[in-house]
Amino acid sequence: MMGTLYLVATPIGNMGDISPRAVEVLKSADLVAAEDTRVTGALLKKLGIEKKLVSYYEHNAAMRSSLLLRHLEEGENIALVSDAGTPAISDPGEDIVEECIRRNITVIPVPGPCAFVCALTVSGFSTKRFSFIGFLPAKANDRKKELENVKHREETLIFYEAPHRLLKTLSDMCEVFGKDRRVSVSREITKKFEEHIRGRLAEVLNHFETNPVKGEFVIVAEGGVKEESSLNQLSLEEHLKFYLKQGIAQKDAIKQIAIDRNLSKREVYAHFHKD
Ligand code: SAM
Repeated sequence: MMGTLYLVATPIGNMGDISPRAVEVLKSADLVAAEDTRVTGALLKKLGIEKKLVSYYEHNAAMRSSLLLRHLEEGENIALVSDAGTPAISDPGEDIVEECIRRNITVIPVPGPCAFVCALTVSGFSTKRFSFIGFLPAKANDRKKELENVKHREETLIFYEAPHRLLKTLSDMCEVFGKDRRVSVSREITKKFEEHIRGRLAEVLNHFETNPVKGEFVIVAEGGVKEESSLNQLSLEEHLKFYLKQGIAQKDAIKQIAIDRNLSKREVYAHFHKD
């Protein structure tokens, strides 16, 4: 019988967040595949678990996959862990999962901490629909292009960012999304200096320009406004509903619809007050 690949989530700061089930799976696995064997070695030591560790990181993943797949096909159970959080989320894992599925090897998640889920849930923005964008490109032009691509998305947007790029990214967001877009920046989630800075982009950028930028960050941005051209493809009723949903008064919404559609205010008003 073939073994099982377990994707085991580990703490993103606070050791108390390791689940009893994660500990059980790590204890019973034949092998632990780790993004960094030193980081996971230290975690296992704290948990009092002695286990064979193999490294599985971005640059050896292709080569290591074949070794891990051989172990799985020989019936061994493998626990895959990353340095922190949920494996395969901006961390190695998706390739081996795909290959396991192709070979009919069972893949089981062992859920636990994930930085973007924590940041999204405390942002105060809509959790009904969201897009996880992850890390933006490092090059300024590519980063701005990616921000342009998602600017008009209506769902909540979530980004991971390294501390040394936080200011540049917030400043690019100000430029592309506009300084009034609301964001929530979560820092050091589950750790001693955890904080969640919420406000308009210009305010949050100002906060980090005047305070030390230290630790790990998730940026959550409120959804944007549909592009005018796509708004005009809606019926007048849907167009009105779109603005009302944003808390805009009916009178102002009608004014805006007239501008969007190049109609007179009177025409739009008449449409909604036919009788
Ligand atoms: N797999 C991880 C997860 O489930 O969240 C993400 C790994 S990714 C390589 C690391 C990024 O996640 C960091 O640069 C930061 O954006 C975010 N992150 C991880 N831990 C965090 C924390 N405690 N507080 C805020 N952001 C965190």
